Amino acid sequence: MSASRHPALSATDPELASFVAAEEVLQAQTLRLIPSENYVSAAVLEASGTVLQNKYSEGYPGRRYYEGQQNIDRVEALAVERAKGLFGVDHANVQPYSGSPANLAVYLAFAKPGDTVMGMALPMGGHLTHGWGVSATGSWFRGVQYGVRPDNGLIDYDAVRELALAERPKIIFCGGTALPRTIDFAAFASIAEEAGSVLVADVAHIAGLIAGGAHPSPADHADVISTTTHKTLRGPRGAMLMCREEHAKAIDKAVFPGLQGGPHNQTTAGIAVALHEAAQPSFTAYAHTVVANAKALAAALLERGFDLVSGGTDNHLILMDLTSRGVAGKVAAKALDRAGIVVNYNTVPFDPRKPFDPSGVRIGTPSLTSRGLTAAHMPAVADWISRAVDAAAKGDEPALGAIRAEVTDLMAAFPAPGLPLS
Ligand SMILES: *Cc1c(COP(=O)(O)O)cnc(C)c1O
Repeated sequence: MSASRHPALSATDPELASFVAAEEVLQAQTLRLIPSENYVSAAVLEASGTVLQNKYSEGYPGRRYYEGQQNIDRVEALAVERAKGLFGVDHANVQPYSGSPANLAVYLAFAKPGDTVMGMALPMGGHLTHGWGVSATGSWFRGVQYGVRPDNGLIDYDAVRELALAERPKIIFCGGTALPRTIDFAAFASIAEEAGSVLVADVAHIAGLIAGGAHPSPADHADVISTTTHKTLRGPRGAMLMCREEHAKAIDKAVFPGLQGGPHNQTTAGIAVALHEAAQPSFTAYAHTVVANAKALAAALLERGFDLVSGGTDNHLILMDLTSRGVAGKVAAKALDRAGIVVNYNTVPFDPRKPFDPSGVRIGTPSLTSRGLTAAHMPAVADWISRAVDAAAKGDEPALGAIRAEVTDLMAAFPAPGLPLS
């Protein structure tokens, strides 16, 4: 398979080529439920592997520190124009290497070390880079953190407001990595305004849903929008920072020369292609189907007795608390993996267990929706999950093997974008 797909690589480095080929098989045969992952299109893959890779281009289109930018400038300007059009923003910077460096650039633009910053706590569903202690953002800055309500798993906006007014943070982050519910950007904006804070909407997980109209947009509410490009947006691994004109200079200066050197032009090209794809009517349908599938999967899991944080989902993501099933998140995640279902173990809010051995499993529908699965398939998916979790609790390996065969069968009928037909 790989020799024909990557002939030069196979000839030069057969060992590495064999790893890539094995990964192609793994991605083709498994049911991938990690909500931050997806399958990029063949076009995005091609754009991300071009000779644009060979070019140094520190600076911005028309203002570079190296010559020979005739084509690179057009590539980056196209990506920027598409980002502005798709998200309805004044300004877009497409150079951040990934989501974490993009967020670090936001700190550099708006805060000084030691300043107070505010974000959602990691165990509540926030991201490391929102001021959590083990991250540079939590040790170089003074991170104060909000969470969700213990009774319903929803963000407590009154508590967010109280904390913001007491702490007057320079920056407030909203958004996260394990939030199954719609984010009220307008509520965060009024809190940030009252507290005199810069509001950053980190939509890394839901950017594709926003682009496709399946989640409200922060464009009218946030000072800065930070996003990765590789999650629901279905582009290459990278990130973008978008903002109003008034913050454009600060953001650009923070990314380069503040934090980074030369942009990864091959990634910029892949981002441009992904943004073009995301502007098509088919992507609007995709985004809505991602949500419909997640809601159908959540309903099917609830029917099978699972506890879901916040009782369900509004977006692409479901956080399952496995406490009542008598199995820890990591044990379940590893059993699911052996059953051909790829998830990640995750803390749940107020988790009594440790982060490296938490109570939950996080799942999502972006990848299976990219393969063409619909709501009609979700009861079967929930069945597999339920059987695998029970098998994990009992140590029933043959049951996991049986599920894996069924999963492989269904996946064969739904070839993934960007992968060779298996
Ligand atoms: C994924 C994610 C990031 C970080 O992105 P990386 O590309 O992994 O650095 C930042 N913020 C949020 C909310 C995320 O979900």
